[in-house]
Amino acid sequence: AVKAKGRDGWQFFNESLQAEASQRLAISTGLRTAVERDELRVLFQPIVQAETGFVIGAEVLLRWHPAIGDVSPSAFIPVAEMTGSIVPIGRWVFEQACRAERTWRDRFGDAAPFVSVNVSARQLSDAGLVADFTAIMDRTGADPTRLQIEVTETSLMADVQANRDMIKRLSGLGIAIAVDDFGTGYSSLAQLMRLNADTLKIDKVFVQSVDQTQESRVIVSALCRIAKSLRLKLVAEGVETASQRNQMRLLGCDQIQGYFFHRPMPEADFLAVFKESITAQRRTTDEPFFL
Ligand code: C2E
Ligand code: MG
Ligand code: MG
Ligand code: MG
Repeated sequence: AVKAKGRDGWQFFNESLQAEASQRLAISTGLRTAVERDELRVLFQPIVQAETGFVIGAEVLLRWHPAIGDVSPSAFIPVAEMTGSIVPIGRWVFEQACRAERTWRDRFGDAAPFVSVNVSARQLSDAGLVADFTAIMDRTGADPTRLQIEVTETSLMADVQANRDMIKRLSGLGIAIAVDDFGTGYSSLAQLMRLNADTLKIDKVFVQSVDQTQESRVIVSALCRIAKSLRLKLVAEGVETASQRNQMRLLGCDQIQGYFFHRPMPEADFLAVFKESITAQRRTTDEPFFL
């Protein structure tokens, strides 16, 4: 009985591995033509000021809608990184980000939200990245000082020196640097300091545990103190409840991103949310005597 069970187990394991492999193959094939077939879209998730809840920026989040049905970023981004498709796809995403920055600044001037874009390790190791990004900024008329790139803490481990050099060059163009998913990797503090990042984004795993146990609260507050002592801006990701919002604010977070405030949304919806936020902000600054 034990033997038979073992064989079933193996067979199941084997079949699911094959299914997974063929799914990965379908994804990698589909991704190669995703740009030409116009199957990619971006959503914008508002980033708010922790104190006030006012919208000050947006993270650009990629979506893929192939004919066979939507595939989530957590399924296709790792494949795109493995096959290298993330390089042309990343150029496309950056162009969307730049176009948004330019359009929003034309419309709102200095009050316009900043635009934050994810850049993976595979992109950083592409020698043409800086030239490509520069050309895209020139073409779209984007202001680099209103752009931010997010690099994950783990991606910094891949090829630390080369990636760090690339980040320095992007930062030299005026683009802000954020370390994404902070706390999930294992970069040493020394490495983090040498990176000259502007911002740390604390991963949602920690943010969402902050009101659970005393132990996780201790960890999160230690992460916050590290960011503060390195004089980095601190962002809490994945805030879903008022309690998480309050705790992260008390721990010194400057910015908050999460479903408690806003989900990722199409540009038109983002602009509606942003306009509402600006109106609310004007009301509070125009009428201080009535408060
Ligand atoms: P990320 O950069 O850490 O982005 C934040 C993720 O958390 C997004 O998932 C967002 O929708 C989700 N999120 C935001 N607030 C909440 C919340 O309150 N609760 C929960 N449960 N989730 C929240 P998404 O859009 O599925 O993206 C997943 C990951 O895929 C991103 O994580 C990023 O690593 C990668 N990714 C997305 N777009 C791009 C891209 O254009 N280029 C690259 N290289 N990676 C991307
Ligand atoms: Mg991110
Ligand atoms: Mg993150
Ligand atoms: Mg992530």
